[in-house]
Formats: sequence, C-alpha cells, structure tokens
Amino acid sequence: MSVALVTGGSRGIGRVIAEKLAHAGYDIAICYSGNESAAQETIAECKKYGVQAMYIKADVSNADDVANMYEEIKSLMGPIEVLVNNAGITKDGLLLRMSEADFEAVVDINLKGTFLCTKAAIKDMMKARTGRIINITSIVGVVGNPGQANYCASKAGIIGFTKSVAKEYGGKGITANAVAPGFIQTAMTDQLPDNVKEAYLKQIALGRFGTPEDIANVVEFLASDKASYITGQVIEVTGGM
Ligand code: NAP
Repeated sequence: MSVALVTGGSRGIGRVIAEKLAHAGYDIAICYSGNESAAQETIAECKKYGVQAMYIKADVSNADDVANMYEEIKSLMGPIEVLVNNAGITKDGLLLRMSEADFEAVVDINLKGTFLCTKAAIKDMMKARTGRIINITSIVGVVGNPGQANYCASKAGIIGFTKSVAKEYGGKGITANAVAPGFIQTAMTDQLPDNVKEAYLKQIALGRFGTPEDIANVVEFLASDKASYITGQVIEVTGGM
C-alpha cells in the first residue's frame, strides 16, 4: 500500500485531504503542531477506510522535527510516495505594522516547511523512481492581497519552489504540482470579519465559498495515475474568484 503524508492534517483542508486519500486506499500519516485531539479525530476517520494511519507532532519549520517525522513514518509504514505540503498559517497585518517575527513565522512554516518536508521525502521517491509532491499554495500567492504581504510572499515562493522541483526531478518519475485555493471555509477564514467575507463572496463567480472537499478532490486527482503527465503546474481552485 502506498504511503501519503499530509502535513497539517489535523484540521481544515488537510484533514479532508487525509480522509480522501485514505478512501482512495493510501496509508496515511499526518502531522500537526499543537492540536492532538484534532489529529486523533482525523486518524480515526482515516482508519474507517481500513488503511493504516498515524499522527505525529512535528513543526514543519523545524529541521529536526521533520527528519524525525520522516524516519518514524518510514519505519512504521514505509517510504512516502505522496507528500502533501499543506501546513500553513497566517499572521495578517499591513506592511508598515508587520513585525519581523510575524514575517519570519509565516515564511518559515509555509515556505521553509515545504522545503524541509520535500527534501526529506525526495530521496526515497528517487529510489522508487516515482513520487507525487502536492503543495498547497493560495490564489493570493498569484495575485497578491493587501494585509498579507508575508503570507502572499510565502505562497508565491511555494509556486517557484514547486516549478523548480518539477524540473529537477521530472527525470526521476516524480511530479510536483501546486494547488491554489481561493476562499475555503475553515478555521483560517472563519476568523475574518463578516464585511471582509462578504466582499470576497462578491468576487466569486460561482457565488459560494469553497469547501475543503473542493481542494481534496483535486489533490486526490494529482496523486493518482490519471495525473501522471502533469507536473510543474498551479491548479487554481477558486470558484472563478
Ligand atoms: P487551518 O484550518 O488553520 O489548519 C492548519 C493546519 O496546519 C492545522 O492542521 C495545524 O495544526 C497545521 N499547522 C500549523 N502550523 C504548523 C506547523 N508549524 N507544523 C505542522 N503543522 C502546522 O488551515 P486551512 O484553512 O485548512 O489551510 C490549509 C492550507 O491551505 C494552508 O497552507 C493554507 O495557507 C492554505 N489555504 C487555505 C485557504 C482557505 O481559504 N482556508 C485558502 C488558500 C490556501 P494544529 O491543528 O496542530 O494547529
């Protein structure tokens, strides 16, 4: 059975991706940063599909945590064939008020975390001559957004990283793609004020916010054999935002 790691799989989009991949038959590993009970809930849902599933507390921005996580997953379930770099945070604020700490925290978790997890997983993918790297970026990494200079920079960085990895490792049978969600209903967006949410809704052609399922469907496709000739792409899942 193939093994998939979903970072930030305890809640939101990551949880639904983990469940979707479990349903598709993958053994599942997830990591989380603090919310153990949520991680346990995801794992319980995944196990309902009869696959192996495990959770690990690991900060994706910490190189030691990532190395230990990779070794633990490998020893318990085998090497990772599908890596979904989903863990992410926001620390919004206008540029002039944005602290260096808030800039660094967002870039470290969103972008450096993607780098560290990919670097850890790619050696075994090269040996296997197959692998799928699916990075969750954001539409604002393409178009920018006021109040999110740190977040948009991290997400734009993920796009450049993805395209580079696709070119570096395509010859080894590894694909790397990014999924760029628009406005998806999760804890991350629940915290926004109602007037901001209403303004976003007006920009969405399909007239509704996205769900984690909308993103998980695309991730499942990119992980599958059906997507074996797609690499280096950014798939926007925004409802026409
Ligand atoms: P969420 O509900 O806030 O969940 C974030 C997840 O990331 C949680 O599982 C959290 O773990 C984990 N996490 C946070 N920091 C971590 C760290 N340092 N190490 C490991 N795990 C960490 O977020 P979401 O809305 O599902 O977003 C998931 C991804 O989609 C993010 O990359 C986000 O930028 C992207 N995205 C979301 C939207 C949207 O509208 N929601 C739009 C575009 C892109 P704990 O449970 O332990 O805190």
